[in-house]
Amino acid sequence: MIDIQEATQLVLSRKRDFGTEKLPLEQCSGRVLRQDIRADRDFPPFTRVTMDGIAIQWAAYEKGQRRFPVEGIQAAGSPQLTLMDAGSCLEVMTGATLPHSTDTVIRYEDLQIEEGQAQIIPDANVKAYQNAHGQGTDRQAGDLIVASGAVLSPAEIGVAATVGLPELEVARMPKAVIVSTGDELVPVASTPEPHQIRTSNSHTIQMALSRWGVPADRLHIDDELEATKTALGNCIQNYDIILLSGGVSKGKYDYVPAALEALGAKKHFHKVKQRPGKPFWFGEVEGQCTIFALPGNPVSSFMCTQRYVRPWLRVSLGLEPMGYAHAVLAKDFHFKPDLTYFLQVKTHYDTATGRLMAHPVEGRGSGDLANLADADAFLELPRGRNDFAAGEVFPLLFYR
Ligand code: AMP
Ligand code: MG
Repeated sequence: MIDIQEATQLVLSRKRDFGTEKLPLEQCSGRVLRQDIRADRDFPPFTRVTMDGIAIQWAAYEKGQRRFPVEGIQAAGSPQLTLMDAGSCLEVMTGATLPHSTDTVIRYEDLQIEEGQAQIIPDANVKAYQNAHGQGTDRQAGDLIVASGAVLSPAEIGVAATVGLPELEVARMPKAVIVSTGDELVPVASTPEPHQIRTSNSHTIQMALSRWGVPADRLHIDDELEATKTALGNCIQNYDIILLSGGVSKGKYDYVPAALEALGAKKHFHKVKQRPGKPFWFGEVEGQCTIFALPGNPVSSFMCTQRYVRPWLRVSLGLEPMGYAHAVLAKDFHFKPDLTYFLQVKTHYDTATGRLMAHPVEGRGSGDLANLADADAFLELPRGRNDFAAGEVFPLLFYR
């Protein structure tokens, strides 16, 4: 049995590349950019008026002139006008090009305009070249604005739009299937017999993946070796990644590892020194399908999805390995077995210190899925010790 560091290392070393695809901007949220975004023009592309008012020559104001005949109006979206007489002005609107032969904009609030004459009020505070956003002062044509590898948020989408890219090249997501196993399981919409339960893992894992941008199909397999082999054989052909839940422990009807190995999947590990999630099996059909066979208990499969599948997805998309948040254990805690313990906690910020505090919300073991709704994270308590003191800081897997 390997420890969580070795398991993590093995999972991350099996990262894959799913290629790229072009998507319209509205479908790019959270996706990883696979092209550079460069300025197609200067930012701003023309010297832009930033206040409604009049445009003048600073030199005239400096000489003491305060009254300017209005020659015309420069509206936003109109070609650039030219000021004819150095001693007059043009009315200008926010977003317009600053007219030729002007360099300073005085806002309406500092003016009185009557009968075609703009008079600057006595206590106006006017500075040279004010209220004009110079062409190319933010970025210049050809500059790299967003580099390949960025995670796309509204900020980057705005940049793509302004440089005229209605579609972006992004990392393609893997095609995933979530496979539940177990004769006791029935679909959500059915009424279980007394000895049956509804499948919850399929939905928990599906939503976790969907939050990370991976759409996934769901499939169920009964506890029967041949049926398991047939169904998994099809999944290997049709999906980049399979997330199984259940059937990987020592039970008489736990056929998943045997079926996968019979289908030619290479096992990288089976069993990790952790609780929950000890029976976790990880392997792949090289170059074709990555397989996370998670234990069936709802807390186990959920924790393993967060702790192993998500970091694997990140590196497969070309991102840096996940950095873990950390939190302060709020209460002394004792745990005896020689396993990394993923303690369920409820977090809150301590406003006095600004620290993230983690309060144990232990629950009744890995079958207690209701407890997941009370907690909001797992605190990773290392192996090799039994006592964990209030005030100690540990890595945190936040899942809300
Ligand atoms: P297994 O790993 O197959 O031995 O399952 C361990 C426990 O998890 C059993 O109590 C199963 O009934 C339960 N379990 C397995 N799969 C699911 C699932 N998809 N949804 C909810 N519970 C499950
Ligand atoms: Mg089972």
